Amino acid sequence: MTMDNQQAENLAYLHTVAGPVAVVDHRDNASGWSEDARRPDWDRLLEGLTAGQYAGVVGWHSDRYTRQPDQLEQLIKACRRGRTQLHTRLGGHHADPTMIRIEMALAARESDIKSERQKLKQGQLAKDGMPHGGRRAYGYNAARTELVAEEAEHIRWAAQAILAGQSMRSVTAELNRRGAVTVSGGQWQASNLGTYLRRPMLAGLRTASVVGDDGKRSAPVVTGEASWPALLDLGTFTALRTLLENPARRVSKSAPRVYLLSGIAICGGAVGTMRGRSNASQNAPASYHCATGKAGCAYRRADKVEAYVTMVMGARLAQLDASGLLVTELDSASEHDQLAAQVAELEETLRGYGRQLVRKEMSPIVFEAAQAETEALVSGLRARMDELAVAQAQPLAVLKGLAGYADAYDRFRALSLERRRAVVSLLATVVIVPSQDRHASKAFDPELVQIAWRN
Ligand SMILES: [Zn+2]
Repeated sequence: MTMDNQQAENLAYLHTVAGPVAVVDHRDNASGWSEDARRPDWDRLLEGLTAGQYAGVVGWHSDRYTRQPDQLEQLIKACRRGRTQLHTRLGGHHADPTMIRIEMALAARESDIKSERQKLKQGQLAKDGMPHGGRRAYGYNAARTELVAEEAEHIRWAAQAILAGQSMRSVTAELNRRGAVTVSGGQWQASNLGTYLRRPMLAGLRTASVVGDDGKRSAPVVTGEASWPALLDLGTFTALRTLLENPARRVSKSAPRVYLLSGIAICGGAVGTMRGRSNASQNAPASYHCATGKAGCAYRRADKVEAYVTMVMGARLAQLDASGLLVTELDSASEHDQLAAQVAELEETLRGYGRQLVRKEMSPIVFEAAQAETEALVSGLRARMDELAVAQAQPLAVLKGLAGYADAYDRFRALSLERRRAVVSLLATVVIVPSQDRHASKAFDPELVQIAWRN
């Protein structure tokens, strides 16, 4: 409906409720939608209302007066001061300002959502088309309609290796060793591989960045399923991204580790993790020390502890039932489905609250509280779903090719240090108990290394 039509209807309404009266027309097109727009005619209207110059004021709908809550409050105040009736063509006489407040809040919210959607859509259109002129994405052909088999294999391998505990650095080195080159023909770097592996595109998801009110583009957000094939399944991708975005992981880019249990084993004396230390300068074998360095804390010869832990891990891995792992996978899949169902239910509840609010069956204050509570529940459930994705994908990747194999000990020993560390962390808590003999290098006592299985 155009402004002129609204104007005509407002006039008709005015004459119906007030009879033949003098009418003053105030209008400014759409500037009530912007927070900062100056509204000279609006200011004149408020002055007139406050001064009691009018018997009443009528607008088409609450949100046609303004979309800014503070401006609405000014209008309500001006009408109260001037003892002026506040009307809308659609809502009639608003003797009590509550409903007009709610109407406007809902309209403003709706318009925020609409403009958000519109911005999203604009961004999306750009992304939806063929990759525009730029380089093709690694793993895909230029039109992004098909996977490039060999590249896809490299990426799937890299994803599994990282989930299995290998560092970005060693995975990058291995990719380069295998002759995988980037789309620009160069070598992979840990940083660009990390960025690439976090792209939702890989899971067949479309993204778009949103232009904010400040004119800045947001980081891309997922907007739905894409038309191109997924290179990684959604579970693997979610686990990978959650893992890569875990800040604890970022620090581990430093020098490669040399010790199996550094930062993993715990001191049985004062609280602290054990650190490996080379004692080459003293012509002595490497050792583990409690990081707190307190007197009475654990201290043990590294090679003997590692040989013992490796032996125990080998035995445990051989016993682990691979089919048991499959059951775990199914369990978490069904928990994931349950969570997804709960989220859908809560979102429906939320929409129900909105309807109750509009029908005046719920007060705005109750609505806000109920909305906040429900949204908190939803975000909690979503976080748990992300965790599950990691819990589901990671153990399978870490234990692949180990669990249930009779020669698990040999297989374990043949793994990279990073992968062995991931296996130990996943399966067990290792406590090194302080020994009375400070130089417990001669008589190694397995009793003083406690290995507790995590489940
Ligand atoms: Zn200690």
